[in-house]
Amino acid sequence: AATVVDARDLRRTYEVRRGFFGRPASVKALSGVSFSLRAGETLAVVGESGSGKSTLSRLVTLIEPPTAGALLIEGRDVSAAGPAERRQLRRDVQIVFQNPYGSLNPRQTIAATLEEPLIVNTGMPKAERREAVRAAMARVGLRPEFAARYPHMFSGGQRQRIAIARALMLRPKILVLDEPVAALDVSIRAQVLNLLADLQDEFGLAYLFVSHDLGVVEHIADRIMVIYLGHAVEIGTREAIFGAPQHPYTRALLSATPSADPTRRKERIVLKGEPPSPIDPPSGCVFHPRCPLAFDRCRVDAPPLEAKRGRDVACWAVEA
Ligand code: ATP
Ligand code: MG
Repeated sequence: AATVVDARDLRRTYEVRRGFFGRPASVKALSGVSFSLRAGETLAVVGESGSGKSTLSRLVTLIEPPTAGALLIEGRDVSAAGPAERRQLRRDVQIVFQNPYGSLNPRQTIAATLEEPLIVNTGMPKAERREAVRAAMARVGLRPEFAARYPHMFSGGQRQRIAIARALMLRPKILVLDEPVAALDVSIRAQVLNLLADLQDEFGLAYLFVSHDLGVVEHIADRIMVIYLGHAVEIGTREAIFGAPQHPYTRALLSATPSADPTRRKERIVLKGEPPSPIDPPSGCVFHPRCPLAFDRCRVDAPPLEAKRGRDVACWAVEA
């Protein structure tokens, strides 16, 4: 399938002050992440809080620009795109956030919420817009009489259906899903995940699926990218990552979650310490202070992401 997102060495820093009188500092939220996403595929992004998942989501959806690196959407370099091309690229990549209540306008009815992207971005006549809204609601499983209601009148799962419908109004090719089911009751999660799977099949959508729930990831991902402190440490197919994780961080993450597959015997790996600050990341491999396998080289030399054992992994301790 065609490559729809090609990210090359994406970096993002934020300038902050440490405390009111503090000196300016720079937060390295993303420190050189490269990956590709193909049409119809789900690439999951996993990593603990603060690892840079939402930063990556904002870059890929063109909400903010990278500090460095290149981002190609459907083969076109975003930084070189003119205003018209940029508008088209923005339509092609849509995002669904974790908290639909925060992202839906409380003063807008569901019909108005879904119609808005059509009014802003297309010259579609009113009657056609109404029909598109009706069809979108039906497609995500919302009853027609909900059209005149407001977001607060819905459950979390229904609100997320509304957010998904809104994201699809402009027929995007890529959906960035930033923890789309994390705020939902466990009983509702499977329904929303099934809806996303059906929509992906029907429209050939590519998903960049951010989650720290490995149970969900094992269920939906074709490939998985593990990030730690702004660095991709391992990227591979679901089978490679869940079947034989190689990076010590991936292994620790997986060892902390019960597997859906009981034949996968697991040793429990407990990481020492907390993730370090992205203002002063460790030298060498950023994972070395917490790594059970770290040796001298890891403290000075950052390992590149390279093909080893059927996936890409950034670790000096993993043999080819
Ligand atoms: P979570 O799982 O908690 O959602 P995350 O993986 O999505 O975490 P990000 O939100 O991308 O992480 O944040 C990565 C790092 O960048 C964090 O250290 C965060 O504090 C910092 N950061 C993110 N956005 C900004 C900003 N606008 N200004 C300053 N620092 C920021
Ligand atoms: Mg986040």
